[in-house]
Amino acid sequence: QEDIFKNVVSHAKEYGFIFPSSEVYDGLSAVYDYAQNGVELKKNIREYWWKSMVQMNENIVGLDAAILMHPTTWKASGHVDAFNDPLIDNKDSKKRYRADVLVEDYAEKLNQKAEKEIEKAKARFGDAFNREEFVTTNARVVEYLSKRKEILERLAKGMSEDLQDVKALIEELEIADPETGSKNWTDVKQFNLMFGTKLGASAESAMDLYLRPETAQGIFVNFLNVQKSGRMKVPFGIAQTGKAFRNEIVARQFIFRMREFEQMEMQFFVRPGDEMKWYQHWKETRLNWHLSLGLGKENYRFHDHEKLAHYANAAADIEFNFPFGFKELEGIHSRTDFDLKAHEEYSGRKLQYFDPELNENYVPYVVETSVGLDRMFLAVFATSLKEETLEDGSTRTVLKLPAVLAPTKAAVLPLVKKDGLPEISRKIIEDLKWDFNVAYDEKDAVGRRYRRQDALGTPFCITVDHQTLEDETVTIRHRDSMKQDRVKISELKDIIENEVSM
Ligand code: ATP
Repeated sequence: QEDIFKNVVSHAKEYGFIFPSSEVYDGLSAVYDYAQNGVELKKNIREYWWKSMVQMNENIVGLDAAILMHPTTWKASGHVDAFNDPLIDNKDSKKRYRADVLVEDYAEKLNQKAEKEIEKAKARFGDAFNREEFVTTNARVVEYLSKRKEILERLAKGMSEDLQDVKALIEELEIADPETGSKNWTDVKQFNLMFGTKLGASAESAMDLYLRPETAQGIFVNFLNVQKSGRMKVPFGIAQTGKAFRNEIVARQFIFRMREFEQMEMQFFVRPGDEMKWYQHWKETRLNWHLSLGLGKENYRFHDHEKLAHYANAAADIEFNFPFGFKELEGIHSRTDFDLKAHEEYSGRKLQYFDPELNENYVPYVVETSVGLDRMFLAVFATSLKEETLEDGSTRTVLKLPAVLAPTKAAVLPLVKKDGLPEISRKIIEDLKWDFNVAYDEKDAVGRRYRRQDALGTPFCITVDHQTLEDETVTIRHRDSMKQDRVKISELKDIIENEVSM
């Protein structure tokens, strides 16, 4: 698993998807740049989300709020007082960790042990294997899973009541510093994750601001502006994508946990009392959105929260099977009227909706869907990256991205660099580029060019050869099957369109 992850990181760099930020200065921890192919893939994921949320839903509209907001926003939202992570230091190594993450990693290992037993049994029993039954009857699996459950429950309790209970749990489980093995821990302390900055030039008049740690608050403070100017009727939603910033303590696992990242959030405003219905609706709808990409149903699971944030009355994560195990990809939260009420209180302005059907005013309840764009990128990229052994025994690296998300949809390759083949290739590109991102490549033998496009995730290669001069046909090669068909140049657009459209 570690090797797979290393491959993902190096492939992303080698093929121009992701670079460490300011690499000439040895990078900046947990900050990354999206390179020529990465920016396309990221944009396509964003667009795929935006279309399904805004374009396909009559009652959801978009917004692009500023990153900088009035500082009282973050008092009202609870971020100034409660947006903390529990830190623990190792006295010997002087390394700093998130106490809850240490415990969660331990629990995940128990889960992996259980999975291993299940896999073994599955291999032994074949078709007769009944997972449900095995999980509830096999002594070892039952022990792993119940221990895991107990640990996570104690963690949740410690996090909400007494952080030193989390420390006690770490000591009891003999969790060691993952890097040095030392078990010599300090107490657990709270650390605020917001990045501060200043507005204004002179020291006296400067105002302390924060870089937004989530995009949601820009939606809440604009709720009434959008509702009135758009004559929106509850239930309706506001969708937004944009940067958010968190001074994460454990910034590791590549783009999974970054200090500057992008969110795709939608806040859905509903009648008080209707929120559970909509919460279920959005849980289901969002899972289906993920499944529509075809990365495999088995790679997703729900995690319903037992411990709820101060603003929520129900919450679940959609977890994804990343190269380092199942982790949160998206959160679906029933946020009640907490945020709008808080902004009413701190601003002294009413944020109420007049419901013409009920003939009454109320502060709507909110159901939120919030997915990290970078985490989506990692999920898609890591799952698509495959090493394949071919029939002739050779291997190829292929990035089997969903075609709709691929940075380049087709590469046009003249078989040789002469006899007018480059010119025809250019002409094909001139036609296709109005509809798709297409690339041209004439360097190296055509087999090597195919491999390069495989590694970039390009769904189609179009090869122009001498026969093209005679009958205006080309070969089109499919990335996944490597099948090649002879088709007319005039058919190319439809063939590509058919596969890459949303
Ligand atoms: P985690 O528990 O992993 O820190 P969270 O519960 O704090 O995440 P939310 O506040 O619910 O996350 O944010 C919504 C989404 O934003 C997450 O599901 C995740 O996809 C993304 N996200 C949050 N923090 C980061 C980060 N530091 N880097 C990249 N994506 C992030």
